[in-house]
Amino acid sequence: MPAPITPEFLTVPRARSGGLPNLVGMTRESMRAALIAAGTLEKQANMRVGQVWGWIYQKGVSDFDAMTNLAKDYRALLADRFIVERPELVTKQVSADGTRKYLLRINGGHEVETVYIPEEDRGTLCISSQVGCTLTCSFCHTGTQKLVRNLSVAEIVGQILVARDDLGEWGIAPGDKRLISNIVLMGMGEPLYNFDNVRDAMLIAMDPEGISLSRRRITLSTSGVVPEITRAGQEIGCMIAISLHATTDAVRDQLVPINKRWNIETLLAALRAYPRLTNSERITFEYVMLEGINDSKEDAHRLVDLIRGIPAKINLIPFNEWPGAPYKRSSGNRIHAFGDIVNAAGYASPVRKPRGEDIMAACGQLKSETERGRKTRAEIAAEAGQ
Ligand code: SAH
Ligand code: SF4
Repeated sequence: MPAPITPEFLTVPRARSGGLPNLVGMTRESMRAALIAAGTLEKQANMRVGQVWGWIYQKGVSDFDAMTNLAKDYRALLADRFIVERPELVTKQVSADGTRKYLLRINGGHEVETVYIPEEDRGTLCISSQVGCTLTCSFCHTGTQKLVRNLSVAEIVGQILVARDDLGEWGIAPGDKRLISNIVLMGMGEPLYNFDNVRDAMLIAMDPEGISLSRRRITLSTSGVVPEITRAGQEIGCMIAISLHATTDAVRDQLVPINKRWNIETLLAALRAYPRLTNSERITFEYVMLEGINDSKEDAHRLVDLIRGIPAKINLIPFNEWPGAPYKRSSGNRIHAFGDIVNAAGYASPVRKPRGEDIMAACGQLKSETERGRKTRAEIAAEAGQ
């Protein structure tokens, strides 16, 4: 007789992998070593990696039986030793504006969110790097969620695979218009606090025989983990966005507490030394517009003075509200007045259009229910040792 389905049962992840290693998330080198250890001849290993890689990342196949250019007994061997597994799609919500939010369950029963944002000239997938976040930016919903853990490489790449499954984007030829043309690491978590896994996942996403996204179509957003920013340029080579959000240390300390560790001056000095800084590869500064907090004309002037000499664009983000949020969104007039000053100083200052607000998918609204008990700011600050 089947076990009765209890609410508890529903929250326990299915033991899907049976403990076998997942080929998703292995770098080419580690896949090669794993295939050899499983009995693949060394002289065939590179070819086998290429074949399996193509099935996983170009065709989206997870069933070894469907890998038809491999001999039957080799497919059976792989099926005995490995799995090809993505995070489990728990729910999908589609916003009135076409934005899609996926709630994914990962090993251990934790949940993360991934958001797909279709636009006329591009489709952007916003992916998460951690369950929750250890940082506690006071305007960010994710920051009220306790960090459960870093995502693995497979769980980061897996978000792309799940979105491609949903969008039916497999088997595209080079030059085809892509539904997922851009990736932003702007979901839950601080990507530079999970550096190695984020790097390996992005290198997999860039692999020309797989998902094949150009490094210039991947943007990593950081709250300002200064020592890792240069490494991101060197080891990933993607575009960088910096969550600046304030023009004085006093205000930034409040909004982005990591500022107490690396303040505005230290952050900007690191950016001036950033290896890939050119006019064609500008840094994006993100600036959330909070009414009466950081949105004055003086702030706008201070901002352009601060970043003078850094090839940059300023992305103005109207604050997205969430239940219990302690701030309000600046008015449209204020945002435009601010943008005009920044623009007049020679910096592009696009206003980010809030997307998917009706399904809580907009920037800073993500928070999974893994940690149900909502923590107070004081508890969060105590844990962070502040
Ligand atoms: N942890 C990284 C990336 C995730 S947040 C970082 O902080 O940069 C992605 C962007 O959304 C950041 O610029 C963040 O500051 C911004 N954000 C967070 N909460 C927001 C909110 N409620 N409204 C608008 N933007 C928000
Ligand atoms: Fe973490 Fe970024 Fe949110 Fe700050 S804004 S709490 S760094 S996810």
